[in-house]
Amino acid sequence: MSNSILVVGGGFSGLTAAIEAAELGHDVYIVEKTPYLGGRVAQLSKYFPKLCPPSCGLEIQFQRIRKNPRIKFFTQAQLVALTGKKGNYTATVSVAPRYVAAHNVDFTLLASSLEGEKNNDFELGLAKEKPLYKSMPFAFPGRFVLAPEALSAADKAKLAGNKFINLAEEAKTVELNIGAIVVATGWQPYDVTKLTNLGAGSVKNCVSNMQVERMASPFGPTGGAIVRPTDKRTPANIAFVQCAGSRDQNHLDYCSYICCMATLKQCLYLAEQNSDIQITVYYIDLRTPGRYVKVLDKVKALPNVHFVKGKVANAVQAEGDTVSLQVEDAVRGEKLTVTYDMVVLATGMQPSLATEKLPFALPLDEDGFVAGGEEAGIFAAGCARMPLDVMRSAQSGTAAALKAVQTVKGR
Ligand code: SF4
Repeated sequence: MSNSILVVGGGFSGLTAAIEAAELGHDVYIVEKTPYLGGRVAQLSKYFPKLCPPSCGLEIQFQRIRKNPRIKFFTQAQLVALTGKKGNYTATVSVAPRYVAAHNVDFTLLASSLEGEKNNDFELGLAKEKPLYKSMPFAFPGRFVLAPEALSAADKAKLAGNKFINLAEEAKTVELNIGAIVVATGWQPYDVTKLTNLGAGSVKNCVSNMQVERMASPFGPTGGAIVRPTDKRTPANIAFVQCAGSRDQNHLDYCSYICCMATLKQCLYLAEQNSDIQITVYYIDLRTPGRYVKVLDKVKALPNVHFVKGKVANAVQAEGDTVSLQVEDAVRGEKLTVTYDMVVLATGMQPSLATEKLPFALPLDEDGFVAGGEEAGIFAAGCARMPLDVMRSAQSGTAAALKAVQTVKGR
């Protein structure tokens, strides 16, 4: 029997669950599939409720992890098997090679001298990066990662004699004895290529709300400026398309909870950048739970922001890489065709488990959110359970940790 806890997912809810359980005296293992902890929050420019930059909340979490010897984490890692039962599971974790030394080595100069390039997944298609990279500005762990498949022959020759790089490193397997599991596998932005009426991701200067977060970040690909990807020009006018893929039986059949607030936040980013930018928000309903309605009032008071209740029927490319929208204005009962320099699709939140499977049976609802498992000592946290904002994800992480602790307590 084990009183250790496994946390699958190193985003905000998973980190919160891990820290809470460890601070109650339990050994905790975090398994994170990407090279760094922090999850989706790390990609935001700012987050509610206080509109802090992600470094603010995450740095505190990282400090608590650094100081707590009870927490061990594996990055680039995946749970590949689970056997046993509540209170006494054996979890098998596969850890992909990082190809660099186990301690922090600053490869900045070496990385910049390499020829190869790869898509920067952290920047969501807005930037490339070198094959030796550290995607996040405040990355934790602070180690670089090497992607050998993106190295040129000259790059491989250059790295061959480097004592801090091991191109022959292989994946490792680790077995963990644990008593309970927190599933904090998080969410992914809904795949815009499925939105055929909204350009299926191929209309130039029609971007997703998460891409706007990366542009707005001072550490992002545009250094904090929200610009048209094609010519890096500040748009004179911009439209937001709400419920892009959410509340739609053909896509996500639920409200994604966060995308109205994300749009209001991005209106504030744009107004701060240039108060002349004309912003139109096309919406069906505006969901601003609780005190967030004050943010809506603040945005509505901006003279350059206009709200139109109406559904966007389609988005197509227009002259000069502009985007033309066909809109059904629900208040005037009119069909409009309006062209914008740039359009933002307020894409929704899909649970990662809708497309990625865990190596054990876990009841999911029809949308991919966790809908059971507690009788087996498996507790869902954050957006693995339901669409949530950061604050509620953290609360959910704490709740899952307490349930996991109760499960293993006294064993
Ligand atoms: Fe639509 Fe707003 Fe719900 Fe997102 S939060 S699905 S934009 S109503």
